[in-house]
Amino acid sequence: MTRQALITGITGQDGAYLAQHLLTLGYAVAGVVRRSSHGDINTDRLHRLGVAGDVRLFDGDLTDLSGLCRILRKVQPDEVYNLAAQSFVQTSWSQPVLTASVTAVGVTNMLEAIRLERPQARFYQASSSEMYGMVQQPVQSETTPFYPRSPYAVAKLYGHWITVNYRESYGMHASSGILFNHESPLRGREFVTRKVTHGVARIKLGLQQELRLGNIEAKRDWGHARDYVRAMHLMLQQDKADDYVIATGRTVSVADMCGIAFGHAGLDMRKHLVIDPDLYRPAEVDVLLGDPDKARAAIGWVPVISLEEMICEMVDADIADLQRAPSSA
Ligand code: NDP
Ligand code: GDP
Repeated sequence: MTRQALITGITGQDGAYLAQHLLTLGYAVAGVVRRSSHGDINTDRLHRLGVAGDVRLFDGDLTDLSGLCRILRKVQPDEVYNLAAQSFVQTSWSQPVLTASVTAVGVTNMLEAIRLERPQARFYQASSSEMYGMVQQPVQSETTPFYPRSPYAVAKLYGHWITVNYRESYGMHASSGILFNHESPLRGREFVTRKVTHGVARIKLGLQQELRLGNIEAKRDWGHARDYVRAMHLMLQQDKADDYVIATGRTVSVADMCGIAFGHAGLDMRKHLVIDPDLYRPAEVDVLLGDPDKARAAIGWVPVISLEEMICEMVDADIADLQRAPSSA
């Protein structure tokens, strides 16, 4: 029997890579998408990976429980991956209530819908290293206490614990992946890696001169989305549901990540980088560094793409895109 997977957030970075990965494994893949007044759902990322025609899309919203129930009845999934969220930290200060509705309570909606309609389905929740926030231990593992530092991180913490709670209350196969930052050419341009690679590409092609950033001292443990979606699937193949940190175990500053991007394009970063105080955040997460040992030992997951390979891939992709369609820049 073909296994059925349902992905919320299928139009996002991870949703597209996960859909591609599951299709390669022989799954039938369905996704939840938000209706738009433009008529067309933005399936650019799915098109880019060549899988837009291979997935079934259903109108729904994480804030609408009855719609999620309806979709579960239609799809009858064996596995549900809950990737939908208001996912940008900076926006969570300007839209804190929306962030709570979608990124926190939306998780309960999905869990309730599964409990009511498809209790045997396995569930994956997209938790985040942002939950560690003001880090309580120099290297963060599954046992490190959380200290969220943004409305986004507070909402993710709720989503994490409600997943644990449904597992413990109802015996659901519900797992939470505590994923550290992961990027790719499909990353939204508002996130720092993509902002940098896109900016570097534009500078390289003479389309802009400056790249304005906020706190370049911040450090992150960055991996590649393609590696990280493999971990999501592996978690749901285990007999017992559990929580896992997914990280590379290496942390690099925003400044050094920029250095890789500018260097790859043959540009001198000092001539182009401008620090803009307006881009600093009300509360910062200074450094994140994950310990992926449990995931390696328990589910056999290891990342294979280095930060350098990923940033170079992103710069090359941005340059190629701009050369194809400079007006979309
Ligand atoms: P993206 O921002 O690229 O994608 C978010 C997805 O959620 C989009 O498909 C978006 O749809 C959808 N969405 C937003 N609001 C709703 C809603 N109300 N109802 C239904 N769908 C909605 O995120 P990523 O792919 O990068 O991340 C996937 C998940 O992993 C997110 O939950 C994120 O918070 C989490 N995460 C990501 C990390 C990372 O480094 N990438 C690290 C740790 C956790 P639309 O296209 O319509 O906007
Ligand atoms: P986050 O870890 O989920 O918040 O991912 P981001 O990519 O948005 O930010 C990573 C880090 O880069 C944070 O510490 C930001 O403060 C820092 N940063 C510095 N300048 C910028 C910028 O211009 N945009 C973004 N998004 N982040 C920036």
